[in-house]
Amino acid sequence: MGANNKIVITGAGGFIGGALVSLLRRQGRRDLRAVDVKPVDEWYQRFDDVENLSLDLNLKENCETTAKDAVEIYNLAANMGGMGFIEHNKALCMLSVLINTNMLLAARKHGTQRFFYASSACVYNADRQQTFEAPSLKEEDAYPALAEDGYGWEKLFSERMCRHFREDFGLQTRVARFHNVYGPWGTWFGGREKAPAAICRKVIEAKVSGNRTIEIWGSGNQTRSFMFIDDCTEGIQKIKDSNILEPINLGSSEAVTINQLVDMAEDIANIKLKRNYDLTAPKGVNGRNSDNTLIKGYLDWEPSTPLRDGLEKTYRWIYDQYMARERGDAGVVRELSTTVQS
Ligand code: NAD
Repeated sequence: MGANNKIVITGAGGFIGGALVSLLRRQGRRDLRAVDVKPVDEWYQRFDDVENLSLDLNLKENCETTAKDAVEIYNLAANMGGMGFIEHNKALCMLSVLINTNMLLAARKHGTQRFFYASSACVYNADRQQTFEAPSLKEEDAYPALAEDGYGWEKLFSERMCRHFREDFGLQTRVARFHNVYGPWGTWFGGREKAPAAICRKVIEAKVSGNRTIEIWGSGNQTRSFMFIDDCTEGIQKIKDSNILEPINLGSSEAVTINQLVDMAEDIANIKLKRNYDLTAPKGVNGRNSDNTLIKGYLDWEPSTPLRDGLEKTYRWIYDQYMARERGDAGVVRELSTTVQS
């Protein structure tokens, strides 16, 4: 087992996985294996000097191929999206348990030294998130369990499986609970996008079309915190390298209402829109924020990119993507979404 040298990133064709591959490359790592179910030419970011594999990780044999020679595995593959997706696809979300189960088994078999698992704030008990006052969720608030139906329950179960693979089999698992991640190279249309990207896109649509209205899901008073992608990938590495054995929050503690998020996007775009509230649309819990006491205690660090700064970068990136698509410049869109960066 001593020859293991590969660093494996699953879900590498997606938002966070692609950003993590990019960071590892910038750190000089070249022994990278990137895996995703999507065909490689559909990955958000793709790097030709990385071993890129298109494999369905629901299947055990593909997880074996993925984990072979792996010293570290970052398991970021999941069938997921924003509220619009997870409220309407509970069975599909729960089926990600196949990925996590088979990846844990394969990691154990191949002697992987570290296994990072991407959990979610959706594991938290819904009763703790009924107020609009942005309750700060502590790690202990996941129990007694009343997770987000479907997606959140799968995450909670897989967290627990990571714990027991560590306790019973000695596989060194580390688990972070991500709170809403956003940034360039993320999903921004198609139904799986999350609030920051969706709002940036809607503001851009209004600006370009001249139709100065915006539809907002829910009352707009829901509170959330949003973590910029660079903070997320930095935190993933810190937690993976740490001795933090329990699942830990990885999120920003700068809570805003959805209305405030729209204010920021309007300010960036230099536009004011009439807001129409769709109270029947999926809107998730009323309030949620990340309590960062534990991560600050362990790492003397927390995600710190101000939302206004991260949103501006995200807006500019989506704007370029949007305009390329408007021009019917499919080549540009593809290039923008798969550019090999140095
Ligand atoms: P994403 O959808 O952009 O990336 C996930 C990737 O997993 C996709 O590219 C998808 O094709 C791939 N995938 C799905 N099924 C697969 C399969 N059977 N085999 C191989 N690959 C498969 O999502 P993301 O935002 O990058 O999320 C990464 C991880 O972080 C996920 O586990 C997600 O649940 C978790 N997470 C994300 C957020 C967030 O705000 N983005 C919040 C909490 C947790």
